[in-house]
Amino acid sequence: MAYASMSEARIRPRQVLVLIIVFLIVLKLVHHNGKHTCQGPEYLQAMYTQQEAGTLPHIYAITPTYARPAQKAELTRLSHLFMLLPNLHWIIVEDSNSTTPLVRSLLQRAGLEKRSTQLNIKTPPEFKLQGKDPNWIKPRGVEQRNMALAWLRTHVDVDRHAIVFFMDDDNSYSTELFAEMTKIKPGHVGVWPVGLVGGLMVERPILNEDKTQVVGFNAAWQPKRPFPIDMAAFAISMDLFIKNPQAVFSYEVQRGYQESEILRHLTTRQQLQPLANSCRDVLVWHTRTEKTKLTSEDALQRQGKRSDSGMEV
Ligand code: UDP
Ligand code: MN
Repeated sequence: MAYASMSEARIRPRQVLVLIIVFLIVLKLVHHNGKHTCQGPEYLQAMYTQQEAGTLPHIYAITPTYARPAQKAELTRLSHLFMLLPNLHWIIVEDSNSTTPLVRSLLQRAGLEKRSTQLNIKTPPEFKLQGKDPNWIKPRGVEQRNMALAWLRTHVDVDRHAIVFFMDDDNSYSTELFAEMTKIKPGHVGVWPVGLVGGLMVERPILNEDKTQVVGFNAAWQPKRPFPIDMAAFAISMDLFIKNPQAVFSYEVQRGYQESEILRHLTTRQQLQPLANSCRDVLVWHTRTEKTKLTSEDALQRQGKRSDSGMEV
């Protein structure tokens, strides 16, 4: 009896040790799964692997934004996209006299404080409506994008490869677009198709036979522009902005010429780097949100009431 209980006592600690080790391994696997989107598609997994190895270039996404009823809805969509993508830094520039609590708390709630920069600059009223020539009306986001470029030029580590993308707040973006952008080589501008823009289902670059060079564009609206593409159709290697300090957006150009204005300082058609499956995949759509109808809200407010008192919508 005495022998039996002694051998039992010898085995038990070992069993407990084995159980603890198995438990720790399972815990580590579960923890690892929770931390990353391991069940996600291959391109996202590849991005996380590169991120851990420190080889994934940063993408600086520049978003001009202004207060209107749908602003929080638009920015919520973008913030949740950012939560999936480890290498994005969001430079959000409000068209207002000060930064707002709405944008600040939105960034906090998405856990993006450390990889976002909140700036503000109000578009001067004289630029909001340029009456004389109908082609000169309302350049949108000019002041804000320029402020973000100035911030980048002074705050970014110039020796580290990074990408700059002008990301309007109302478009629809696939996470795959950002995986494509990380392929942009230093000194280059990457291009791809944009859906639902310029009066077409898709505006896209036309490539040569071996799919390595852009030889034209299919644009129907103002096809004679030097770069007849939308703001969402390209992203730029950061070094080009450092080498070309004169590259900024301008009020002095006709409607539809902002893209050409910035790109002419940075690249040529021949140097463009085609992405998104040789420009056959649509990964971004130039959606536009319908202006919110608030007739009943206006009626309420005339009675001194409102549907959203004490709430942020
Ligand atoms: N924008 C802005 N101030 C304005 C109008 C627009 O900051 O007075 C921003 C807007 O939030 C968006 C970008 O500029 O991120 C482009 O504007 P919009 O989407 O209205 O342009 P469009 O779709 O006509 O190209
Ligand atoms: Mn838009």
